Amino acid sequence: MNNQYDAIIIGAGVIGACVAFELSKKGYKTISIDKGPEAGYGSTSGSCAIIRTYYSAYETCALAYEGWFYWKDWANYLGADDEQGLIKYNDTGCLVIKTPHNKFLEEACATMDRIGCPYDHIAAEDIASKLPGADIRKFEPAKLITDEAFGELTGGEVSGAVLFHAGGYISDPKLSAHKAQRAAEAIGAEFMFKAEITEIRQQDNRVAGITLSDGTQIDAKIVVNVAGPHSSILN
Ligand SMILES: Cc1cc2nc3c(=O)[nH]c(=O)nc-3n(C[C@H](O)[C@H](O)[C@H](O)COP(=O)(O)OP(=O)(O)OC[C@H]3O[C@@H](n4cnc5c(N)ncnc54)[C@H](O)[C@@H]3O)c2cc1C
Repeated sequence: MNNQYDAIIIGAGVIGACVAFELSKKGYKTISIDKGPEAGYGSTSGSCAIIRTYYSAYETCALAYEGWFYWKDWANYLGADDEQGLIKYNDTGCLVIKTPHNKFLEEACATMDRIGCPYDHIAAEDIASKLPGADIRKFEPAKLITDEAFGELTGGEVSGAVLFHAGGYISDPKLSAHKAQRAAEAIGAEFMFKAEITEIRQQDNRVAGITLSDGTQIDAKIVVNVAGPHSSILN
């Protein structure tokens, strides 16, 4: 099985399946290899499905904001049909309470200003109009459930919130990876499941391919390691 592929993609989570799709669009012959039985069985399945833009690093926020536009147009972005159906993205926005722990979201808002991502400050008394039923009394600082004071009020109200408009949640993270797999396959990508990669091989000081646990070797000049939390183990 040598030299058939331009790129080997390790992992078929939501990131790996989309990498396969994007590389295939650029004309690369790819094979995605995953030890799971289907796309999205790794941490993608464990995700809470929240789509948000406010992270701690500028680059992450910029990437997430760009990603939000793809989620909003998921069906058109991927194009191909999926026999398992299509996810739904609910563009609710994300309301986050300001706390001393998150530095009252000042750094997050500064990054949103840098990337041009819209948000609004919400006064404590207006939170319920955005999130009906919200309890604005203070319980902070957070305590372990074993703490005697767990769940007790600590006095006063929260300091307000920020509503990040670009955000929401998707109906099914695993299905989103499956759909990306089908879209990649529709333009020539191959996927191999229940196959564990045990080694990224090198030759002449550059990547040469991978080896599976049964000893099978597949060669390619490009190996993309998107094995999620396991990627560092492989490295
Ligand atoms: C509890 C939890 C909640 C989360 N909530 C959110 C959220 O609300 N919003 C959000 O944006 N993110 C959330 N995340 C993070 C998000 O799930 C991940 O960032 C995302 O799913 C990563 O996708 P991935 O494709 O990189 O990795 P994965 O989905 O982990 O895919 C990696 C794939 O690599 C395969 N693999 C690993 N090692 C090998 C090997 N040696 N050989 C072959 N295959 C291998 C695995 O089987 C797996 O399918 C959450 C994560 C967790 C754990």
